[in-house]
Amino acid sequence: MAGNRTDRPGCSLCGEDAVICLREPNRHLCGKHLSEDIEARVLSAIREYGMIQNGDRIAVGLSGGKDSTALLLLLHSLLPLWDNVSIVAITVDEGIAGYREETIGAAEALTREIGIEHHTISFSDLFGGTLDAFLKGREQQACTVCGILRKKALAISAGRAGATRLATGHNLDDEAQSVLMNTLRGDLIRLIRESGEESGYFISRIKPLRDISEKEIAAYLIILGYWNDLPECPYTRFALRAEVRGMLSDFECQYPGTLKNLVTSRKKIREHLGRTEIAGPIRHCRQCGDPCSGELCQVCQLLPSLKR
Ligand code: SF4
Ligand code: ZN
Repeated sequence: MAGNRTDRPGCSLCGEDAVICLREPNRHLCGKHLSEDIEARVLSAIREYGMIQNGDRIAVGLSGGKDSTALLLLLHSLLPLWDNVSIVAITVDEGIAGYREETIGAAEALTREIGIEHHTISFSDLFGGTLDAFLKGREQQACTVCGILRKKALAISAGRAGATRLATGHNLDDEAQSVLMNTLRGDLIRLIRESGEESGYFISRIKPLRDISEKEIAAYLIILGYWNDLPECPYTRFALRAEVRGMLSDFECQYPGTLKNLVTSRKKIREHLGRTEIAGPIRHCRQCGDPCSGELCQVCQLLPSLKR
């Protein structure tokens, strides 16, 4: 076992300098063992939820930010484990001035470097306007509008690329935040529906990073040399999620395991109540045909008011 050469604590597995201290379970890990641990846990989640099968074509939502960069790198490295599986990266250009240009540049550079097919799809082409234009005077609703339109844009682009799965970079923190936000809003239906196995469109959506925390993803990117300090979306300040994120990370620090416990609660609620019984049957939008719970899907309800 190698001895410690600095004041930093040693890796719980090999004694080398640790790059991260994980408190749940309590251990320190060096770069090599953290990477191996993350890859093993991602693979285990993929297998447990049947996220990837031989022959799949996986569309990866690539914003160019940390989570989606880590997701693409992880899936790319795990690819040889399946037969005849391919990846296509999809970037959505919402039209956010001073922010999206840089992240799109990062996505293009990454896909070029690792040799992945890459498509960009814009709100302007699909919906007839940029997010900035749609939000004039209603900036408070930024993330709700952006989320609804982006989900559709990704599904359309994944369908055009012939994908059978749509992978997104949602991590453990995102999942825990969603559970808390839906609970705070009293939105039981969304609480039940927002899960890794959910397939809102005809292509099933998968979240391979669902068990990996934001902190681990950041460390993983630093270890691999892919850390990028990109600008933050200017609408973040209007997001309820930003407040919930701060609150939960304080809680996680004080009470390790909080994030995991929240996600586990959702799983238990789903098991007890049954998704279809609570959420009702999936119907189809009478305007665009996409799956939805009412007469019109969220995009078809929203777009006329955005263009007014
Ligand atoms: Fe969209 Fe909100 Fe994310 Fe900005 S912070 S990209 S508006 S969801
Ligand atoms: Zn519709």
